[in-house]
Amino acid sequence: PGQRKKWVVGNWKMHGRLADNEALLRALASGAGACSGIRVGVCVPTPYLAQVEAALSGTPFAWGVQDVSAYTHGAYTGEVAAEMTLEFGATLAIVGHSERRAYHGEHSELVAAKAQRALQAGLTPIVCVGETLEERESGATQAVVGAQIDALLAKLSVDETARVVIAYEPVWAIGTGRTATTDQAQEVHAFLRARLLGKHAVLASVPLLYGGSVKPENAAALFSQADIDGGLIGGASLKSQDFLAICAAA
Ligand code: PEP
Repeated sequence: PGQRKKWVVGNWKMHGRLADNEALLRALASGAGACSGIRVGVCVPTPYLAQVEAALSGTPFAWGVQDVSAYTHGAYTGEVAAEMTLEFGATLAIVGHSERRAYHGEHSELVAAKAQRALQAGLTPIVCVGETLEERESGATQAVVGAQIDALLAKLSVDETARVVIAYEPVWAIGTGRTATTDQAQEVHAFLRARLLGKHAVLASVPLLYGGSVKPENAAALFSQADIDGGLIGGASLKSQDFLAICAAA
């Protein structure tokens, strides 16, 4: 476990305007000292990729998008191809965020196809899994996240899977201020780790990030858990001080 680097990735969601982004990006670039020794990045709305590339080139920050098409090109109105993001220096793509699963009908097979497409283009997919409150309360957490991971393992080769990042994001903890306890998060991360190891020993190195109301106050405790390799950060990634404090905690 000590071999795995920590990751902190921001998910801006559908927030930002050129002027606000400029201030945030400047603060991140000048606070990059907080990120030494970790992998750090931001996933931004696609129209701002050029702005982010200009602001973060030469800093420790990587950048990318919050979704990517499962196709290379063609008649897919509204979709963005992985290769298009490469032209703006992107290296990351979140796929299967719970908001896309819930509001855009994305199922685990499509999420796996998007992850594979991202990998083929040379992006690192950050594949999100997680249960709803109802699923947790009915004792179905492992069945739900297990099925989400299994769909990925069914589609990707072991070599491909070794290049993904997985984010466990309990839906009830996203944007709610209700963070999973360190024990709740670690328990699911250990389950996911075992599931990956059940496929192949090399998958011990897959980074497992926690997401869901991570803040400067709870980041260090979460990130110190044996199977938690960092975080995917929504709300707190829009405030440079908070995001940098979370990076410093990693
Ligand atoms: C997210 O949407 O990926 C997320 C973790 O959001 P928040 O940190 O705001 O809960």
